[in-house]
Amino acid sequence: MSKIRVLADHVANQIAAGEVVERPASVAKELVENSIDAGATRITIEIEAGGRRLLKVSDDGEGMVRDDAILAFERHATSKIRASDDLIAIGTLGFRGEALASIASVAKVELVTNTADAAAGTRVAIDGGRMRDVKDAAHPRGTTIAVRDLFFNVPARRKFLRSEATETFHLTNLVTHYALAHPEIAFAFVNNGRDVVRAVAAKNLRERAYQIFGEAFLENLLAVDGGDASVARVTGFVSAPRDRRTSRDSQYLFVNRRFVRDRMIGRSLSEGYRSILPHGVYPAALLFVETPLEEVDVNVHPAKTEVRFRRPDAVADAVREAVRSALSSVGFVEPEPQIPQLPQPPQLQVASAAAASTPPQPRIEFAPLPSGDEIARDIEAMIRSSSVTSPAQTPPLDSAAKLVREVAPENVSVNIRPLGQLEESFIIATDDEGLLLIDQHVAHERVLFDKYRALEAERRVESQQLLVPETFELTPAQAAVFDQLAPELEVYGFELMRLSGRTVAIRAVPADLPAGEARNMLAELLETVDAEKKSSARETLRDEIAASLACHAAIKVNMSLTPEKMRWLIDRLLQTSSPTTCPHGRPVILRLGMRDILKGFHRI
Ligand code: ADP
Ligand code: MG
Repeated sequence: MSKIRVLADHVANQIAAGEVVERPASVAKELVENSIDAGATRITIEIEAGGRRLLKVSDDGEGMVRDDAILAFERHATSKIRASDDLIAIGTLGFRGEALASIASVAKVELVTNTADAAAGTRVAIDGGRMRDVKDAAHPRGTTIAVRDLFFNVPARRKFLRSEATETFHLTNLVTHYALAHPEIAFAFVNNGRDVVRAVAAKNLRERAYQIFGEAFLENLLAVDGGDASVARVTGFVSAPRDRRTSRDSQYLFVNRRFVRDRMIGRSLSEGYRSILPHGVYPAALLFVETPLEEVDVNVHPAKTEVRFRRPDAVADAVREAVRSALSSVGFVEPEPQIPQLPQPPQLQVASAAAASTPPQPRIEFAPLPSGDEIARDIEAMIRSSSVTSPAQTPPLDSAAKLVREVAPENVSVNIRPLGQLEESFIIATDDEGLLLIDQHVAHERVLFDKYRALEAERRVESQQLLVPETFELTPAQAAVFDQLAPELEVYGFELMRLSGRTVAIRAVPADLPAGEARNMLAELLETVDAEKKSSARETLRDEIAASLACHAAIKVNMSLTPEKMRWLIDRLLQTSSPTTCPHGRPVILRLGMRDILKGFHRI
């Protein structure tokens, strides 16, 4: 007897839904994309209970006639492509024709739609993939889709949904992305009846970013404009190097105005900041990569969040170079090696209105010892540049790369003697076993982390009042996290006040934290402590706050230290719970052992 059966449509749709509909935010993504494809100028997203109970998207796009409104729910039913050739150059956000079929198979869906010239609109109701009702209904030109009780018929999937706060966070993030990608469309996002985003049509990205993030965010942005149209144009904004984040959450990356998760673009962005931002720290970015349609394949994943470039290396180069030239236009990186006898302060070129309001920034030249590749590249650049005389030819030195080791906790000796600083960032010291390099910033971070944790445990907060409170604008996503985070921050000595709307005033900060750092720290915490972690243990959250506090209050790199200060830092470090790793898990001390030194010099 044969054993293979073709699955019923509604079962096949549920299986497909597994790939397309992961959570409420993925439903919102498909619906918003449909509205954009339909030429909407106004899109409203309303949710209740984190999108599980209700997720409703309405638009004023072209709408559908009755036959189409019914067909739209069939699998592989689309108006956007006709033949396989069309897959070569996809100009719409959707094209697979499975989103509505998938969504309707796992929720209760009601669609009401009307076109400009039809007399009456149409209402279609579908529950769990079964068509319940089709009838006339009034609706202005456009479409409204309400998705209720997501996963009501798939308990296994329902179990995987997170808390309301988490799902709302993802939804907010999603709406923010699409609102940024389409400034010309008016967006509204309403959560349990409250406006989270309400942005009228904007002239350009800058104006839209202002509507969503507020003025403070824009102040620190540099305009990016580079690449070339035949491979990839790269435009948007990136943050100045002093604005640091410990996660990639404030990176909004788009390919042909499609919100994608692409590691390559994120990596190239970071490479643009090479030697300006230390490892593990990320810039904020709104970056748009525009490629010719045939240069990119979006048909890689059912949710269309991944893309494949025909020439990935060329795209990576374009992103990196565009970011780099944005940074060099305001003096953060030197575009070309300078002529030695003419040391000049970096020229501040006004790249945009944003740059105009940005005060000249101190140049940060934190260089984590360059890798072999980077040195080779730099030398190449020097040779190419005619204005530079070639450096004196010295034979290459043997690198000690393989010989330097992280120091294990049981191997720290109390007998550490500082000798000096390397690049004003690392303390050079000796102990009984050889030569040590101590990262001054992370060492101090460890010291402060232990101190803050101890103060908190003893409920002894030390805070300093600010003469002039700093104000701070929350993004919609941050506002959701803020209320949960604020009490925990107060444990450490912050005094925060929610003013009207999404503005927060910082009235006091913990002792040791420079007032100017408070704002950066808050921004960063609001991002890292996203909804996922918020629901985790309070201790974890408090550790996270202490780590961030320590990081912002700690001695920076590129700061010269007196011998006394180095001594003080080392003594304090040795008293901490874990002198060899920083609160983020990075090593604090590296050692070049005596044996390795002797070996290196061929003495043993
Ligand atoms: P796809 O977007 O891949 O074509 P969907 O399942 O998302 O597939 O939608 C199926 C079809 O329904 C679309 O091709 C489009 O013609 C129509 N449609 C869906 N949403 C809308 C909308 N908001 N306005 C107008 N037409 C829509
Ligand atoms: Mg679609």
